[in-house]
Amino acid sequence: MVRAPAGTSPFVTDEPQHFGSGWLSGTIGAVLGIAASGTAVCLALPQHLTLPALRASYPVPFVVSALHAAIPLAFVLGLLSLWLRRKKTLGAIAIGTAALAATVFAVAPPLDAAGSTTVGLGVDVFVFTLVVYAAVFLPLERLWPLRAEQPTFRPEWWTDLAWFASSALLMQATSFVILAPANALATTTPAGLRAAIASLPLVVQFPAIVLVSDLVQYHVHRACHRVPLLWRFHAIHHSATSMDWLAGSRLHVVDAVLTRSLVYLPLAMLGFAPAAIAAYLVFVAAQATFVHTNLRWRLAWLEPWLVVPRFHHWHHADSVRDVNFAVHVPWLDRVFGTFHLPAKDWPDAYGLADGATGPRGFLRQLLAPFGRR
Ligand SMILES: [Zn+2]
Ligand SMILES: [Zn+2]
Repeated sequence: MVRAPAGTSPFVTDEPQHFGSGWLSGTIGAVLGIAASGTAVCLALPQHLTLPALRASYPVPFVVSALHAAIPLAFVLGLLSLWLRRKKTLGAIAIGTAALAATVFAVAPPLDAAGSTTVGLGVDVFVFTLVVYAAVFLPLERLWPLRAEQPTFRPEWWTDLAWFASSALLMQATSFVILAPANALATTTPAGLRAAIASLPLVVQFPAIVLVSDLVQYHVHRACHRVPLLWRFHAIHHSATSMDWLAGSRLHVVDAVLTRSLVYLPLAMLGFAPAAIAAYLVFVAAQATFVHTNLRWRLAWLEPWLVVPRFHHWHHADSVRDVNFAVHVPWLDRVFGTFHLPAKDWPDAYGLADGATGPRGFLRQLLAPFGRR
């Protein structure tokens, strides 16, 4: 029996992934199963596993009906994949997670989602964002792959899923650390200025927020590359050697909290309206995911105005260092002399310079920046 090399994913296989190969049924079944089990535990323990700010507004009867449909569907798709595919990992995950969801659902009936606790893990955020991103980006990466040879469940896919999950689960805690200091400092700016900015139309506030945040983000990001102490944390993001919709999730919590605190500070102090800031948060989450995708769209018409995948892929190239720091507005890099975008090319490879591999696995990556140099 041929063993997969150490460190590769249990999903790596030379089997085809076309329609009828059991790959599609296994993948959809696995995503549905993971989402169903996450939803079932959220329904059983909403007071601990959902964000207090969101839980009161959940349509529980609708969610229960969706679970009634998703659990058997994940089972059937898992069985289909097991039958069609030699490698059983995807089918086993679909059936295992569907069984887990059915068990939790049977033994722990849904509680009222409006639990009274004030602290909760964001399992709901994890399930929701995983389903939405998988539904949008998995098909796009399958239809228009930049690197067709790169499997969806590439090596280190699980490491990046762990980063994705941890940032969703700890959302309440990190949001508090990010928002509290900025909101306290916001009272130091003149109330008249804040009121004037908050009363501007949203179509003016939104691009202003994009510009202000990217100006701050550009310099914080550049400092993360220059200052050795900050680079220890930011290097984790750059240790990814494959780009796809999940790769951008590999962001050390210290890196994420530091950058977001500093980016949010001027937004709070200038007094932008909560609706405009909320729209920006949705935009930044979607764009940060999009720019890492394994998607060959060049989007030449958009390239001068908005950061697109090719621009950010060059930021991750192992051959060029310290270019393309902007996350929204690419001409900031032109202004500050760090712009790098060859006419049509994409980088050959990604990762840290000099072939350094960096720590492997979620826990090692989480702890490595605190260790000895
Ligand atoms: Zn960087
Ligand atoms: Zn990145």
